[in-house]
Amino acid sequence: MSKLQAIYLKDYKKPEFSIKDVELVFDLYEEETIVTNIMNIKKESDSAKEIVLDSIDLELKELWLNDVKLGESHYSYVDEKLTISDVPAAFRLKIINKIYPQNNTELEGLYKSGSIFCTQNEPEGFRRITPYLDRPDVMSVFRTTVIADRKKYPILLSNGNKTQCHDSFDERHGVTWFDPHPKPSYLFALVAGDLGSVNDEFTTASGEHVELNIYCDLGNESKCSHAMKSLKEAMTWDEEKYGREYDLEIYNIVAVDSFNMGAMENKGLNIFNSHYVLADEDTASDMNFMGIQSVIAHEYFHNWTGNRITCRDWFQLTLKEGLTVFRDQSFSADLNSREVQRIEDVKGLRERQFVEDASPTAHPIQPESYISMNNFYTSTVYEKGAEVIRMIHTLLGEENYRKATDLYFESFDGQAVTTNDFLWAMGEASKVNGEAREDALGYGIDLSAFELWYHQSGTPKIHVQEDYYNNTFTLSLTQKVPNAVDGSEQKPYFFPLKIALIDEDGNDILEKTLIVSKETEEFVFDDINTKPTLSVNRDFSAPIIIEQDDNDYSFLMKHDKNSFVRYESAQSFAVETLEAIMNGEEIDEEFVAAFGYLLDLDVDLSYKALLLELPTISTLMQRQKVIDFEPIYEAKEKLAKYLATTYKEKLLTLYTTNHKPLNQDIDSLSMGERALKNRSLRLLSALESDEIIDLVSKQYSSSLTMTDRVVALDILENITELLSEMALSDFYSKYRDDTLVMNKYFSTLSASEREGTLERVIALQDDEVYDEKVPNLVRSLIGVFARNYKHFHAKDGNGYKFLADKIIEIDTINPQMASGLCAAFKIYEKLNETNRMMMKGELERVVSTQSLSKNVYEIVSKILKIN
Ligand SMILES: [Zn+2]
Repeated sequence: MSKLQAIYLKDYKKPEFSIKDVELVFDLYEEETIVTNIMNIKKESDSAKEIVLDSIDLELKELWLNDVKLGESHYSYVDEKLTISDVPAAFRLKIINKIYPQNNTELEGLYKSGSIFCTQNEPEGFRRITPYLDRPDVMSVFRTTVIADRKKYPILLSNGNKTQCHDSFDERHGVTWFDPHPKPSYLFALVAGDLGSVNDEFTTASGEHVELNIYCDLGNESKCSHAMKSLKEAMTWDEEKYGREYDLEIYNIVAVDSFNMGAMENKGLNIFNSHYVLADEDTASDMNFMGIQSVIAHEYFHNWTGNRITCRDWFQLTLKEGLTVFRDQSFSADLNSREVQRIEDVKGLRERQFVEDASPTAHPIQPESYISMNNFYTSTVYEKGAEVIRMIHTLLGEENYRKATDLYFESFDGQAVTTNDFLWAMGEASKVNGEAREDALGYGIDLSAFELWYHQSGTPKIHVQEDYYNNTFTLSLTQKVPNAVDGSEQKPYFFPLKIALIDEDGNDILEKTLIVSKETEEFVFDDINTKPTLSVNRDFSAPIIIEQDDNDYSFLMKHDKNSFVRYESAQSFAVETLEAIMNGEEIDEEFVAAFGYLLDLDVDLSYKALLLELPTISTLMQRQKVIDFEPIYEAKEKLAKYLATTYKEKLLTLYTTNHKPLNQDIDSLSMGERALKNRSLRLLSALESDEIIDLVSKQYSSSLTMTDRVVALDILENITELLSEMALSDFYSKYRDDTLVMNKYFSTLSASEREGTLERVIALQDDEVYDEKVPNLVRSLIGVFARNYKHFHAKDGNGYKFLADKIIEIDTINPQMASGLCAAFKIYEKLNETNRMMMKGELERVVSTQSLSKNVYEIVSKILKIN
């Protein structure tokens, strides 16, 4: 089957044609859209005789070459390719074709979200709009005219600056946009609708005025102010930190409800999932506010890292995504709490990327092949990609890193490049007169050794051994790099490892960033007068797993000045304690005492809330050789109850001193108070006593923030059926008209540990708010259920069957969304025999489904190791 053919990086060839400029006219109607596409094309290779344009499901009306209409003998349209033979060295090609956006449920190309026309073209959506050389290394200047009904679609948008309004066609009107910056087709965007907006302005460092607009459904304008504030913060930050200014007269953001991803950085016209734009104190949680700030910044930062400099081919995706995630993480760390940001980044990496990296779908941040590119918008490419950039930043130091990024922007502006080009710029900046520079770390850095991070998969494990003798501390490291998915051996990595030796009072004797590059390595520290405690992988300086023979977690929890290692030690000690409980041992009192110490710590409140968090189910699961969830749930419940009983008074005090139900502010202190008191409340809820249930109910009914209400709802859902029903129906009646908030309702029920959860999830699909065509709703009902380890992995196999049914069904509507749901099956190989066999049956049923999409096929066949 041709559609299942893999595409390989090694087969890359330069395009044989370039497109100097494109003129597009969109005639939007309710029943059809007519696209007129005029391209000035030039041959780049003498041997090229025919031009092959990408083209999916298009109804061709007319083709004109240099004003001569082409008959059907001059072109062929088969297998998603439009081929025109005998083309001259330079020519003008005009194509008129029809599309049907109102029937487009895949949400790629031009489609309708509610009554709004919008686009999503990354990676390969543009070929669903008009025939084109739909690949990122073909960059062109776009002029776009959008014509539609004046009343229904008063707002008509595309990339670039607005150049002309056409008011002369009676009930219809049109607007022409011109984007002077050459760009690949995946950055093309169009929006038409009856939209509300908020408007602001920004003056760049060099004095240029930029008009800022955020568009949304009418009535939601008041929920755009946080997004607008975040946009201006991002613009200022990029000028200060990277010297990058915005380059058009207008920056538009549009929020739509039906969107497969988070947001899209189309040049000058970002299109967003409304989840990452709309927020106010009544409807958004603190996490939502933080998410908006970060995603608005992420898409804005792409203007330079992605748009001005783009990817040569899709194998280079991490070039723009790894770098831009690193940039948005740094931005959030600068604007909020650095320590909390770092821990949250690492938590996300471990929950998603480490699981992927240990599965048959593991791939390098620069993959070597794909069947469907949509499947490679992964945590590996994004989050591990960001860790790789962070290591480069650490190796170069702040000053050289800035020189290196300046060089990258100077050298490649306006081009489509590769990760090697990026590494070249990073390496050049670390040289002096052609020699490796003695940089901030005191090492000559040769980044060629670093390249392996782009080409290998799997998370390396570093075994740490310490020895102290005669005032000498010796650190021995052994690197275990897992084999690649195909079984081939992989080489040891080169990475920075930040460590410290601490004296008995908790002071650093020394702190150093070591460069590790071999399978086994020894680092010797002389003149260490007392036996030190080792603090390793400070700030999570490399994305690795540390295995330590000796450790003093209790000491580090109390004394380490590095906020990350302190957190890490609390987590590791809790993991050790939980695993002992799973082995039938008593609860370790040393851990309980150390936990008590944390309760009294005087530190940033959000950070403290993280310190008090027990390890997630996923953390414990990843450490099991054979996964079985029941013992994990039991051990967690037992430890939580013991801690809550032991520290009830302290936890109650933390709760009451930080509970300020009328405070809706979103400054870091207020958010910290909510995080800490809700952490305390969650711990206390293990007691399931009337006193605590009363506190939770009061919080639900009296607090003015969504954060507090959702936490209360979630706790009630898990411990008391009666009160939970009352709170849920109250929540439903308040927010049923607000789809974004209703996502929280669905996910609370889908994540519930209570009996009968699957039955309720099935029933909720008939709720009038639920719509299987809206990705956010599918993610919050079905996607959240697939991460509900207790019920998804239930021993009757019904969870697996339900998800498999949904994947098959949703695949016919939206393959990208369906393949996203397959993520829950990635742990298949490591499951216990009973679960594995049941899951196997369901996976086989999915993969043998008639006319399955290549998206789902690729993931499921990898999990089952078919091929
Ligand atoms: Zn991105």
